[in-house]
Amino acid sequence: MLYDVVIIGGGPAGLTAGIYVKRAMLKALLLERTGVGGQIIITDLVENYPGFLEISGADLARKFEEHAQKFGLEMQSMAEVSGIEEIGNIKIVKTTAGDFEAKTAIIASGTTPKKLGAKGEIEFTGRGVSYCATCDGFFFRDKVVVVVGGGDSAITEAIYLTKMAKKVIIVHRRDKLRAEKINQEHAFANPKISFVWDSIVEEIAGKNTVEKVIIKNVKTNAISEINTDGVFIYVGLIPNTAFANVKKDERGFIVANDRMETSVRGIFAAGDCRVTPLRQIATAVGDGAIAAVSSEKYIEGL
Ligand SMILES: Cc1cc2nc3c(=O)[nH]c(=O)nc-3n(C[C@H](O)[C@H](O)[C@H](O)COP(=O)(O)OP(=O)(O)OC[C@H]3O[C@@H](n4cnc5c(N)ncnc54)[C@H](O)[C@@H]3O)c2cc1C
Repeated sequence: MLYDVVIIGGGPAGLTAGIYVKRAMLKALLLERTGVGGQIIITDLVENYPGFLEISGADLARKFEEHAQKFGLEMQSMAEVSGIEEIGNIKIVKTTAGDFEAKTAIIASGTTPKKLGAKGEIEFTGRGVSYCATCDGFFFRDKVVVVVGGGDSAITEAIYLTKMAKKVIIVHRRDKLRAEKINQEHAFANPKISFVWDSIVEEIAGKNTVEKVIIKNVKTNAISEINTDGVFIYVGLIPNTAFANVKKDERGFIVANDRMETSVRGIFAAGDCRVTPLRQIATAVGDGAIAAVSSEKYIEGL
């Protein structure tokens, strides 16, 4: 079967693209390597997506999915894309669930949390080291946790962790946060949160589970220890774009213009996986809509 559009990734960008292409009456398939929803599934609370004063990430993801289903978007979970080949104008999307042919492809594959690179990080993942407060916060009831990072994800998840943990210590390599001002204010006002500035985690240590982190002050080089039961890491994002043979920046984010066109004709990119000044649900949704309309226009011109 030849699809008009194959969408790679079932997060906010991919699902929005799906809604738009289906409303344009295109034959479309969305491929997702895990379950549909994207990164917002692991977000406790979203309070900056217009129309929803407060909604859990999982509920918002479900609404996006239901919306796409309403317009009949075909979705295939557990289909990880490994490459896109071209025969003439046809894109062959290679996946763990087989090959799919389409006139256009929209890459909306998002990002994966970056590893810290500290000694002990891999060894203690799942035994105190986590990248998802919503998934693992529950295990740290009345415990002390360290959150590493200073951006919005680190700060909002640190605030979330104060619901369970008795103390949350944010370790940040700079002397100020990057997070939105409103998130900063909430964190500074939270009595359970304290900050360790200008510091990086050198090592995560313990016997069977995490017991402490060893940190270095980057200004003085002084080494110190923090006793903790858990370490939540939010230090950046790696784009899920290894399978895409299109132009990328030095970090692997896809370069696309304001019509979401990549360097390859008929391949579009949308959301967090592309070079963009803001990686949020609202921007991913906007990108997805534009990519869908651009793919429709491209098909009309074939
Ligand atoms: C902890 C945390 C809290 C956040 N809080 C907020 C918030 O409060 N407000 C806000 O606006 N934003 C928030 N964000 C950011 C928001 O989640 C992202 O900007 C948004 O999810 C990006 O959507 P996307 O569709 O581009 O990518 P993603 O949501 O990352 O979705 C990409 C999808 O593609 C799939 N995929 C990847 N590679 C492949 C492949 N090879 N084959 C098939 N499928 C693949 C992935 O499994 C994933 O489902 C938060 C992020 C995190 C991590």
